[in-house]
Amino acid sequence: LKNVFQASPLGITLIKNRKIVWHNDNIARMTGYLSDEFYGKNARILYKSEEEFERVGRVIKGLCQGKKRSEIETRWVRKDGSEFDCHIRYALLEPEKKDSLTLAIVNDITEKKKLRAQLNQAQKMESIGILAGGVAHDFNNILTTIIGTADLIMMDLDKDTDLYQDIEDISKAGKRAAALTRQLLAFSRKEIINPEVMNLNFTLTNLEKMLRRLIGEDIDLAVQCEPKLSHIKADPGQMEQIVMNLAVNARDAMPKGGKLTIETMNVDLDEQYFIDHAVENGSGKYVMMAVTDNGIGMDEETKSRIFEPFFTTKKMGRGTGLGLSTVYGIVKQNNGHIWVYSEKNKGTTFKIYFPALETDTIKEKKDNDFKPELTGTETILMAEDDDTLREMAERMLQKAGYRVITAVTGEEAINAVKNFNDPIDLLITDVVMPGMNGKDLADQMQEKIPGLKVLYMSGYTANTIAHHGLLDKDINFIQKPFNYDDLVHKIREVLDGDQ
Ligand code: ADP
Ligand code: MG
Repeated sequence: LKNVFQASPLGITLIKNRKIVWHNDNIARMTGYLSDEFYGKNARILYKSEEEFERVGRVIKGLCQGKKRSEIETRWVRKDGSEFDCHIRYALLEPEKKDSLTLAIVNDITEKKKLRAQLNQAQKMESIGILAGGVAHDFNNILTTIIGTADLIMMDLDKDTDLYQDIEDISKAGKRAAALTRQLLAFSRKEIINPEVMNLNFTLTNLEKMLRRLIGEDIDLAVQCEPKLSHIKADPGQMEQIVMNLAVNARDAMPKGGKLTIETMNVDLDEQYFIDHAVENGSGKYVMMAVTDNGIGMDEETKSRIFEPFFTTKKMGRGTGLGLSTVYGIVKQNNGHIWVYSEKNKGTTFKIYFPALETDTIKEKKDNDFKPELTGTETILMAEDDDTLREMAERMLQKAGYRVITAVTGEEAINAVKNFNDPIDLLITDVVMPGMNGKDLADQMQEKIPGLKVLYMSGYTANTIAHHGLLDKDINFIQKPFNYDDLVHKIREVLDGDQ
């Protein structure tokens, strides 16, 4: 029987009146005691407190009073004082005998508990994301109307009037709200992104000057770029946002000054890394960016919540709690990983990993110096189900000189064209509409009118498109909320462009 016990992967011990009579090698391995130190000892040494020792004792007692089997989760203290979570199952070795030994089968569940906590965390983030994304989507339509209508009114007003100033305040407030919803969308991974082959070193070099201004003179900034950093595929604007958000947090964590280090590195993540961090395996080459400060750091409680939207430890008006949730969303949307290492009063490191590209191609950034004429006389067909938004966009387009046909649904748009004899130059369509979605509408229209240009507008990619995370890179797209300038710029860009 002892051989069987020794061969088991579990810790097994025999006890009598809570004294350890025998144990297998695994018990010694788990607890750090030597065999002869243990024999005859009271199991009390394995517990931190008398209460816990007694709580477990009650389970054993129940067993002796006739229950066949009992189990409990508890924590054991190792010889060196450290603790671990274990699950113990008790049974009588010889139940028919009156003074039977008790068998305790011990499983170290530290790993399992860690995984469970991480899974809970992931699920929580997922549901908050869905919630936030839903709210942000509706908000975008409303904000587009607010900002756009304010713009339209301002165009008709004299800049010096009080009313103009008031409307300008509305417009500014609307834009601030739009910035917030954009962060929420980023968190819920519903923002439409434009990933391209890029290099994080480039982002950092570009941002360095601004970062210095942002963090102030008391903080010493060191940017250490790996010279031959691999490229990644990501949205450059989002990458900037990550760096900025992390830098602002680091600044806030070092009110009396300190040191902020941002470094990039090529790394190889092995399978073990993914096991340790309880994420789906994706071992291979990554580009890492680490942002380290020596500020106030965080305790465990704070650390477990930092990626939640609206979680902040800062004073009212100082923090929105959206910085890290945005970073988290962006990282996930770009297939990356993020980890935080922090200790109270010692500082914090955020490490972000993105899959490295094998290619050496450096994409030249096109300089878009060319300033287009912002009005036109072309005919535009617009499909948008939100009434106020559609009416406002129609007014904007008319203001810029265009001839506009509007439709509430894709079906209506197709019918509208049947009765229309003049050529149509551009289709503007919402991506997500009841019935036919924007993509299907565009496909059908382009079949009827070859070469028809299409501009999509959306706050986010609801199910149909979100499924893929993004629209094709090559489409024309305008993000809601937009204002007059955004819209007329975009329209000229599309009409004068070659697709
Ligand atoms: P906010 O900065 O608006 O509070 P964030 O989402 O950016 O929201 O951060 C959430 C919280 O995480 C902060 O309030 C702070 O408690 C903690 N935190 C983030 N970065 C750091 C850091 N570098 N050092 C210490 N604490 C941090
Ligand atoms: Mg912040």
